[in-house]
Amino acid sequence: MSNRYIDPWGTGMNNDNAKKPAPHAYWIHEKIKVKQSVTGYYYLPDCTCSNCGYYSRRELPVCLNCNALMDEKPPKR
Ligand SMILES: [Zn+2]
Repeated sequence: MSNRYIDPWGTGMNNDNAKKPAPHAYWIHEKIKVKQSVTGYYYLPDCTCSNCGYYSRRELPVCLNCNALMDEKPPKR
């Protein structure tokens, strides 16, 4: 693990997490098996942060818990 992060705004933003540079993460959607779906799965709007596991009812641009920027592409499976 490297301690070097890129601060996309260069300012650290004006919040409590300013001392911790924002990591990049993505939302992990819960999926359930459904026969009707082409892929066999249905992705729920509920999602969790890939960085800290914070649960959200919908996708947000930034994680409210760890301040991660949710601009990462989820890994393809
Ligand atoms: Zn998070």
